[in-house]
Amino acid sequence: TIGMIALDAAGNLSGACTTSGMAFKLHGRVGDSPIIGAGLYVDNEVGAATATGVGEEVIRVVGSFLVVELMRQGYSPEAACKEAVMRIVKKKPAKAKEIQIGFLALNKKGEHGAFCLQKGFSYAVATADNQEQLIQGKHYF
Ligand code: ASP
Repeated sequence: TIGMIALDAAGNLSGACTTSGMAFKLHGRVGDSPIIGAGLYVDNEVGAATATGVGEEVIRVVGSFLVVELMRQGYSPEAACKEAVMRIVKKKPAKAKEIQIGFLALNKKGEHGAFCLQKGFSYAVATADNQEQLIQGKHYF
């Protein structure tokens, strides 16, 4: 999945995501990316979130919506992403090591964060003055 979330100069949030789906997927499978609330969710009052990884697991916890709702309750973007990942781990503790999941979030203040299950998830941040930064997402395993 390529997920993008943005905050413009007027303070408005937006987001988009795209995916090629999972390898060896069944014909007709619908992943999380085209489902609002699962692979992507934006609430202009609170923040935006997007997901990557095994879509079935993201759908099960309505992941991106969950991340935004946690930010509404005061979680930082990274803490909200971590909580959503941990909810997936809690549902499948024995299989968690084999599941790839990552969330990325941005709040209304422009704070961003990410959390994923496995090592190796990074995201890019671009700001108005065109500075680009590659940030290593925190991970569980
Ligand atoms: N989330 C996507 C899906 O399950 C896979 C991906 O990360 O691209 O379809």
